[in-house]
Amino acid sequence: MSLTKKILLALLLGIFAGIGLTFAPAELFTPIDTYVLNPVGEIFLNLIMMIVVPIVFVSIVLGTVGLGDPSKLGRIGVQTISFYLVTTAIALVIGLGVGLVLEPGEGGNFSIDDASYEEQAAPPIMDTLVQIIPENPVEALSTGNMLQIIAVAIFVGVALAMLGEKTSGIRNLFEQANDILIFLVNAIMKTAPYGAFALIASAIGEAGLDAIGSMFMYMLAVILALVLHGVITYSIAIKTLGKASPLKFYKAFFPAMSVAFSTSSSSATLPVSMKIAQEKLGVKKSISSFVQPLGATINMDGTAIMQAVATVFIAQVYAEPLGLSQMLMVVLTATLASIGTAGVPGVGLIMLAMVLKQVGLPVDGIALIIGVDRLLDMIRTSLNITGDAACAYIISEDDKRKNGIDEEQTEQTA
Ligand code: ASP
Repeated sequence: MSLTKKILLALLLGIFAGIGLTFAPAELFTPIDTYVLNPVGEIFLNLIMMIVVPIVFVSIVLGTVGLGDPSKLGRIGVQTISFYLVTTAIALVIGLGVGLVLEPGEGGNFSIDDASYEEQAAPPIMDTLVQIIPENPVEALSTGNMLQIIAVAIFVGVALAMLGEKTSGIRNLFEQANDILIFLVNAIMKTAPYGAFALIASAIGEAGLDAIGSMFMYMLAVILALVLHGVITYSIAIKTLGKASPLKFYKAFFPAMSVAFSTSSSSATLPVSMKIAQEKLGVKKSISSFVQPLGATINMDGTAIMQAVATVFIAQVYAEPLGLSQMLMVVLTATLASIGTAGVPGVGLIMLAMVLKQVGLPVDGIALIIGVDRLLDMIRTSLNITGDAACAYIISEDDKRKNGIDEEQTEQTA
């Protein structure tokens, strides 16, 4: 059985096990969750997180060397960031629209009196942007500050490209490091079915059927908006901008979506999503290794959708309808928030506090949705990484039309 099928089967079994566990008494569920599901899920997540920082660093260095010409890097950078900003803004409009039509916060019985949410500090966006160039690159690597790591890697890559033959030894070193990392990704992915099973069973068991039932309309609205954006926006972009087949894209990329679904982490999914983009979709290595890590760090359309629907939902529950200017504010702040959202589980909810404050809604409202957020995190993360891959695919197809398939590509598709 192929790995994709195994992961899918594990997810299905995990969903059944999770639903089964919601009926189990706490004395049974707690030990199973604490001693079996959580550790298995955590070990899988750690295994994959272990290689994320080296992969981002090594592949961006190699990607930048591969592009060769810094002005080409600049052009791709502008195309990438424009795609990310525009699609995130569209995602937010879809989220707000679905929230306004389905009205998930009207009519239900939500006890706002006991709602209280312990706010966690969200990183100030301007600081994140200003500090993109780290004072200490080693610290950037050791703390896993992705934007800083990307910046350092681009500098090193440009230097290697300019110095050419003189530094061919270091370039070989990076290429060999890349081989080691690819070997590790393949090995770690063999454990993915177990991790996926444990993570989904635990997420459903912990949320409980009651929470899922009472938040049904909210969940439905978020999921509908995610599906609409995934199916319509990206398909149109792939067809019109990339002149490629959306169906081929989705078929090939599905395994990466299932890994994102089980890990709820864009960062953790990055090694797999880059591998699939390069090997199955034929995305140029130099483009994939630049566009996808950047996307996993700053582009979160799924998260933006959750924030839009959640804002509308909380406004409805507190009976403080949003005006047009507040909605524009949501689009603006949530687009910025998505740049500052780290690609790890649950951060989107922390950043939601910023959006709510900006439009003057009570941050306590987050308490209403926190119970089901992990489940939605799984789905929105799948969309987050799909947006990154769609962008890489489009830019690569466009590049191939303009510059032809280079040697690097023939090597991959062979
Ligand atoms: N888990 C999401 C991601 O990694 C971020 C979030 O929405 O919490 O992409």
